[in-house]
Amino acid sequence: MRIRVLQSASLALIFLTASLGECSAAVIAKDGVAKTVIVVDPASSPTERFAAQQLAACLQQITGGSFEIQTNAKAPKNAIIVGPGIAASSCFSDVPFAELGGEEFVIRTAHNRILLAGGPPRGTLYAVSRFLQDECGVRWWTPWASRIPQRSSLRIGTLNVRAKPAFEYRNPYWRCAFDPEWSWHNLCNGDSSHLTAEQGGSIEYKYFVHSFYTLVPPQKYFPEHSEWFSLVNGRRTAENAQLCLSNPELRDFVVDRVKEALRESPEARIISVSQNDCLNACECTNCKAMDDAEGSHAGSLIAFVNYIAEKIAPEFPNVSVDTLAYQYTRKPPRTLNTRSNVIVRLCSIECNFREPLDSPSNSAFAADIRGWDAKANRLYAWDYVTDFAHYIQPFPDWFTLGPNLRFFQDHKVRGVFEEGAYESYGTEMAELRAWVLAQLLWNPRQDDRALIREFLDGYYGAAGRPLWRYLELMEEASKGYNLTIWTPTNAPFLHFKTLAQAESLWREAEKAVKGNDELLKRVQQGHLAVQYVWLEGWDPLRAEGVRSGNSWPFAVSREELGRQWLAVAHGVEEKPWTRVTIVSEGGITPDEFVAQMGQKKP
Ligand SMILES: [Zn+2]
Repeated sequence: MRIRVLQSASLALIFLTASLGECSAAVIAKDGVAKTVIVVDPASSPTERFAAQQLAACLQQITGGSFEIQTNAKAPKNAIIVGPGIAASSCFSDVPFAELGGEEFVIRTAHNRILLAGGPPRGTLYAVSRFLQDECGVRWWTPWASRIPQRSSLRIGTLNVRAKPAFEYRNPYWRCAFDPEWSWHNLCNGDSSHLTAEQGGSIEYKYFVHSFYTLVPPQKYFPEHSEWFSLVNGRRTAENAQLCLSNPELRDFVVDRVKEALRESPEARIISVSQNDCLNACECTNCKAMDDAEGSHAGSLIAFVNYIAEKIAPEFPNVSVDTLAYQYTRKPPRTLNTRSNVIVRLCSIECNFREPLDSPSNSAFAADIRGWDAKANRLYAWDYVTDFAHYIQPFPDWFTLGPNLRFFQDHKVRGVFEEGAYESYGTEMAELRAWVLAQLLWNPRQDDRALIREFLDGYYGAAGRPLWRYLELMEEASKGYNLTIWTPTNAPFLHFKTLAQAESLWREAEKAVKGNDELLKRVQQGHLAVQYVWLEGWDPLRAEGVRSGNSWPFAVSREELGRQWLAVAHGVEEKPWTRVTIVSEGGITPDEFVAQMGQKKP
């Protein structure tokens, strides 16, 4: 977590006074001229050199000055030192570099020098990113939109920061977050970010999830070894089923398969040994006895995964075995603890996402996370942040993102996968969630509502204000509704009155950015969400409007609105982010949606 010298706090003030001689301000640029050089150690890593280049380029964009990068074992008087090498022999020699974790860093000022340095592989790069964000005001909203403040004179006050992320694994799984540059800018490290080694690399999984039948393909092994597969209703089966986790022969077979897979992928640090995406746990006598004794199907699962993890540890001491606590295995075992090289990924799929995870409506999940907190050595969360039936309709979970990440942190969750609408650009509030989640995954103690407002104003410009009112409107309207990840378009909170107000706010938002083609495109794309619901529920909504004596908000026919909607959804070729390609996890395209919408009966 971020530790800062706060000048207003009395304790910090004492510390600051004591070290005032060492920590002092630094001038970076004056009147568009660089007043400092950037220095990297000759022995620095490719990532540290990359960090220095990125810093130079961004400072040039901010100030207009040209920043020289020196590769030198000594730092001149006015310098930004990037990386720990030379810093250790400079005025920053008291920094405990050897203690810094792989994503931890120090930012300090002393004698007109600035130190940006962290542990390998990503610490120094993160120091640069956080420095540019926190001290220079840079924001990287999306891969195609950022804010680079223009300041021809740039002076940095006294800094003494040591920080590291709240979660070791941070993956906001949205289409717009798969961009490597955006990912390192926003300090995400999942392998879907496609980070290069220069960009610090990522946490690599071997297989990602639901890997039982990847490890033991039934087409190859079921004929000879049906006893390795689930016994369901007295019959061995591999159809929508799992493995017989208590079978000793199968266990050793999986150990060999895991070792083989890891030898093929030496970069992997985590291997998934996890249940298939269905039910049908094995009901054989041995599996059942373990599950009964542990009060959960997680009993046979954790015994199995612990066994695999123990057997691979000598050859792969740096690899962890990841498994799911998902649906029928969500409840933690009564007595079993996981080994230190086992990761349990607890999945929130059944929850009500309108309410925080620790609210009464999610009490069963909250009880499970508390249980796993005590049982799992290393707990990750697999959380859900979109409507999978309708990626593009309003899904008012915005104000639970912060509380939920705080809840995870409180229960020793160390990694978070936030599954969003990963298949297409232009899904509902995708860009907002990706950025806000990335910021909160770094530090969930930030004011999440302030982050949301900041994004709206930054990304949508003058439309930010009505859009904030839109978010509040939907939050209020959905109060008391059980918002699942399969919420239909006719959910009670998507009724005429709320939609009419929402429509009006989006029109106000479009008006606010009229004349700015780029911002208008962003707002029009966001507007698709509300119009998606109008188009789908046209006739019943119209009847509801008439019943309540309200005027119908559209002058055009359903077909014409469908055509207009499609024109926005198709976007423009030269800007891939403007193109919506899929509107649900089922793979419905915008054209199919509009075609089917046209055929719907009243
Ligand atoms: Zn069994």
